Amino acid sequence: MVVRIGINGYGTIGKRIADAILKQKDMELVGITKTKPNFECKIAMEKGISIFASSSDRVKLFEEAGIKVKGTLEDLLKNCDIIVDCTPGGIGASYKSIYEKYNVKAIFQGGEKHDVAGFSFNAYCNYKEAIGRKYVRVVSCNTTALCRVLYAIDKAFGIRKARVVLIRRGADPHEDSKGPINSIVPDPVSIPSHHGPDLNKVLPHINITTIAFAVPETLMHVHVVNLEVNNSATESDVINILSKYSRIKIVSAKLGLDSTSAIIEYARDLGRKRYDIPELIIWKESIKSYGNEIYLSQAVHQESIVIPENIDAIRAMMKITEDPEESIRLTDESLGIGGDFNI
Ligand code: NAD
Repeated sequence: MVVRIGINGYGTIGKRIADAILKQKDMELVGITKTKPNFECKIAMEKGISIFASSSDRVKLFEEAGIKVKGTLEDLLKNCDIIVDCTPGGIGASYKSIYEKYNVKAIFQGGEKHDVAGFSFNAYCNYKEAIGRKYVRVVSCNTTALCRVLYAIDKAFGIRKARVVLIRRGADPHEDSKGPINSIVPDPVSIPSHHGPDLNKVLPHINITTIAFAVPETLMHVHVVNLEVNNSATESDVINILSKYSRIKIVSAKLGLDSTSAIIEYARDLGRKRYDIPELIIWKESIKSYGNEIYLSQAVHQESIVIPENIDAIRAMMKITEDPEESIRLTDESLGIGGDFNI
């Protein structure tokens, strides 16, 4: 079975999902939409990806720029089994009625509210509940990171209480109009930030409070995680459990991997495309146990951590496999997840 997929919105997340789909044997990328012609269209064309204008009034823009489009979003939808909405946060919901009109399944991203799909997804946590669904929302980069680590620790030791401080990157590297550029901004000042309630959409039983700050950085987020667990665990117990998950990498700061910029430089030296790190990175030295209390710090590459989750969401919704482990293995092997990031 080969599933036909369209992508609406070819920005930070959309272009990475497109590249990931091109690597799957059980998926076909029918095309992507763009609002305007730019260098991203040129690269998509060079990769042989079909481009569709996001609406009919924009077709002329592409023609004037000498870029051939195959039609509009509606033409794309006619030829798809499923659409991955990668439009900016809050815009995706406005497209739901069009997806409904063409009777295609749809995946929304974390910038949309939970209610747009009625189901929020993370591959480790709730793959089986996504099987056959028409609408799924893949949670945001921060929530994906929290889902992975809290799921693993909860399953092994039982989480009584989770308290997390999130230090958020201010913008993605290409976003030259966003900030902050000289401030640490509580996001929001009041407690909790939206991340805890969002985590509860996937793992409702976890007692969690989150506090977030946005900082002048574009590379990664950092989370400081403090947990109270039911069954006491040593540092090596925690490391052994987390090491079992391919999408979690425990790295040592000893060889200089002691900052977000060093982690990114390592990914660049490894030759990773766009220096992407879809794995959640946890600093080994930050894992500290006081019996029933665990601390750890983790770094999150916001631009790529949700990409494997989108691929697994497609497999679950299209019933390609009902086995989460099989989907995760296929995704990870095809995207080279976990293999080379070893320090
Ligand atoms: P982006 O701005 O990089 O890309 C959005 C794309 O959609 C752009 O190509 C833009 O031209 C296009 N677009 C804009 N308006 C449109 C419209 N009305 N119709 C169709 N296309 C339109 O955004 P992004 O960072 O890729 O974010 C997409 C979604 O993924 C959001 O929900 C966001 O919250 C979520 N997300 C982003 C990140 C991240 O770090 N960038 C991480 C996880 C999840």
